[in-house]
Formats: sequence, structure tokens, C-alpha cells
Amino acid sequence: QGAIVVHVRVAPLAERYVLLLADDRTEITRTEAIRNDFVANVSHELKTPVGAISLLSEAIEDAAEDEAAVRRFTKRLHKESLRLAALVQDIIELSRLQGTDVVLQGRPVDVGRILAEAVDRNHLTAEGKNIKVSLGQVDDVVVHGDPDLLMTAFRNLVDNAIRYSPENTKVGVGVRVRSNLVEISVTDQGPGISQDDQERIFERFYRVDAARSRQTGGTGLGLSIVKHVMANHGGEVTVWSQPGQGSTFTVRLPVYEEDAATEPSDAP
Ligand code: ADP
Repeated sequence: QGAIVVHVRVAPLAERYVLLLADDRTEITRTEAIRNDFVANVSHELKTPVGAISLLSEAIEDAAEDEAAVRRFTKRLHKESLRLAALVQDIIELSRLQGTDVVLQGRPVDVGRILAEAVDRNHLTAEGKNIKVSLGQVDDVVVHGDPDLLMTAFRNLVDNAIRYSPENTKVGVGVRVRSNLVEISVTDQGPGISQDDQERIFERFYRVDAARSRQTGGTGLGLSIVKHVMANHGGEVTVWSQPGQGSTFTVRLPVYEEDAATEPSDAP
């Protein structure tokens, strides 16, 4: 104990420096641990569709004489390959977003246009379940960011709302501006999410019901991607939900102030 007191008196700066180094090291170890964890999870997740594809192609070979069986297996093979493709795409997207070298191709983005497209890209799934997706009125709201990333985020939220909801229900997408923030919310009449699960659904590969998520083509990465896209845009995503009462995911983004980006004029 005495030694520490002397050390603090004699070299307070050196001690602070040592503490800083220790902090850095903790940070590096933490980042490394997260990365290793991610790689382990990814390998595990990839094994399922890859294994299924391998088994199904063998089954097709064995059942060559049985036309009906071949058709059945081929259909499943196709489904598994789509799942693998979605998984690979999400993994690439997420690792890009988690990297420190994410350079946002920032430009003014029209929120109404992006939302309309996100809804449109999900219309087949919605129609298949007779789910009506309505987009509220959006007055000219502009944010600053990467239109492709923002599209991916909104598409994921609308896609989840449709996938987890029962048939013949409604999904609403609403937009409102509060001072310098735009709030975009996606509300569904699905099963809802318990409080405990709400705290974990933004984690990579976390699913409340893994079988259901897989069955509906989920990768377990959608919300994690949404979270990272928002963090990269200086925004956030939150959830309100109660089991049996549906869910509302809300995204908040800074409104783009055109004046702030305008070059100062030379005019007197
Ligand atoms: P997934 O690909 O499994 O949908 P996500 O990261 O998009 O992965 O979501 C994580 C989990 O959160 C899902 O597996 C699901 O259990 C839950 N979830 C997400 N959106 C909704 C929703 N709108 N209603 C109910 N549960 C949801």
C-alpha cells in the first residue's frame, strides 16, 4: 500500500500513462474477443445450410429414378441455397459495418422515397400473407447518409414486421419530425417480444425462436445490421413491444440541415 502512495507522488504522469495503456489493452482484447466470437458464430451458422445442401444433393443422386422425390429435394435444395446466400450477404454487410473503415458515402437522402421503396420491395411477402402495409404521409424529410444502407435497414424492419405477423394483419410505417430529429416507426400486430428478449434481439444471431426465424428465412442478423446502420448515421433504433400486442420499432435520425452544408457565399 505504502509503495503505491510513493509511486503516485513521484510519478503521477507515468502512472496515468500505465493506466491508459492498460485501458487500451483491455479495449484491444475486448475487440479481439468480439471478433473471435463473431467468427465462431458465423462458422456455426454456415454449417447448417452447407450441411443441408450437401445432404440434399446426395439425396437427389440416390433418388434419381423417383421423379417426385427429386422434385421435392430440388425444391428444398433451392430454399437452402437462398438461405445460404442471404446469410453470406448479411455477414458481409455486418462485418463491413462493424469495421473501423466504414466510410459513409454520405449525401442527402429523401426519407419518403427510401421508405416507399423499402415497402415496395416487401410487397410480395406481404401479399402472400394478405398483410396490408400502409405508409403514412411523409412531407419532404431529408437525412444525410448512405441511401443503400438506409434502405437495407428499413427493408429489414418492414420485412421482420411482415414475417413475424400472422396472416390478415396490418403493418404501419409512420414518420414524424420532432425538432431536428426524424422518427420512423414500423408497427405490427404480430406476437410481440418479451422484455427480456427485447434486450437481446439487437445482438448478432440472437433469435427468440430459432426454428421460426430459420423457417421464415431469417438470418438472425437483421436487427444487428439495423443497429449498426443507425449508429453509423448518428441515429438509433429502439423497440416497444408487449407479448400479444404487437411491436413497434422506432428509428431516430438527425434531419439534414441544408444550410449547414452550404458553402459560405462570397456575396456581401
Ligand atoms: P431474424 O433473421 O431471425 O429475423 P433479426 O435480427 O431481424 O433476425 O431479429 C432477431 C429476432 O427478433 C428474431 O429472430 C425474432 O425473434 C425477433 N423479432 C424481430 N422483429 C420482430 C417482430 N416485428 N415481431 C416479433 N419478433 C421480432
